[in-house]
Amino acid sequence: MVMGELSQDTEVLVIGAGPGGYAAAFRAADLGMDVTMVDVAERPGGACVFRGCIPSKALLFMADLLHDTRRVAPMGITFGEPELDLGKIRDWKNGVVDQLAEGLVTLSEKRGIQRIQGRAFFENSKEVRLQDSEVSRIRFRHAILATGSHPRPLPDRPFEKGSRIMDSAGALELPDIPERLLILGGGYIALEMGSVYAALGSRVTVAVRSERLLRGADPDLAEPLIRRLKETFENIWFNSNSRPRRY
Ligand SMILES: Cc1cc2nc3c(=O)[nH]c(=O)nc-3n(C[C@H](O)[C@H](O)[C@H](O)COP(=O)(O)OP(=O)(O)OC[C@H]3O[C@@H](n4cnc5c(N)ncnc54)[C@H](O)[C@@H]3O)c2cc1C
Repeated sequence: MVMGELSQDTEVLVIGAGPGGYAAAFRAADLGMDVTMVDVAERPGGACVFRGCIPSKALLFMADLLHDTRRVAPMGITFGEPELDLGKIRDWKNGVVDQLAEGLVTLSEKRGIQRIQGRAFFENSKEVRLQDSEVSRIRFRHAILATGSHPRPLPDRPFEKGSRIMDSAGALELPDIPERLLILGGGYIALEMGSVYAALGSRVTVAVRSERLLRGADPDLAEPLIRRLKETFENIWFNSNSRPRRY
């Protein structure tokens, strides 16, 4: 991490160090270019490593283990109810995230990529200004924008820490295990979060605006999962912004 320099030059400036940004930075560095990667976060990884793919897959792995212990009951093997230590689950999940983020730090360093923490704002077509950073300005020859996306809050209901309304990042923090949880949306992120909380003991209802879950997925592939989710969730409400239909 660069500290103390106020202004610097780079051939390729990558803004955002998520999977889009770090992949581009690695490629540019591998092609011999001088690369600087800026992110608000201290380490590369973006939403995927810190608030998305990695923590959700770690928790899904755990949810699947819990599911398997129940699935073997018809085979004559019965486990007692699991004792859940939420603090330890969080620590384990954060450890997985940490390992991946450190791996990306090493891969960046091996390629000689300069990493700078800060929020970038374009001043003009050749220069960015950085906020909350030890470096105030970077002049660049080429810039790659990989700043990702954000969950959209409900109108007039911001996602706030401690609030009962969470986005996926808040849900992945596992603040507690609510007795009942309503999930709005039927995409893979909604279903992953629902599966995790259901495995941990919440009664989960999923409400979707459309007539089916996983609208972007091949129906033949989605069907077996949906069959299982109908058993996992307490309710799935389709057409929930018009006339609800319960399954
Ligand atoms: C719960 C969940 C589970 C997911 N699971 C999967 C999965 O299993 N498989 C999969 O392929 N995808 C998954 N995704 C999607 C995946 O996380 C995103 O597609 C991916 O992170 C997008 O990468 P990105 O680089 O475009 O953006 P991001 O990962 O969002 O990275 C953007 C980065 O830009 C930084 N940034 C933004 N503005 C500025 C600025 N002005 N200056 C400096 N830095 C800035 C941000 O801090 C951030 O680090 C999941 C997402 C979620 C939320």
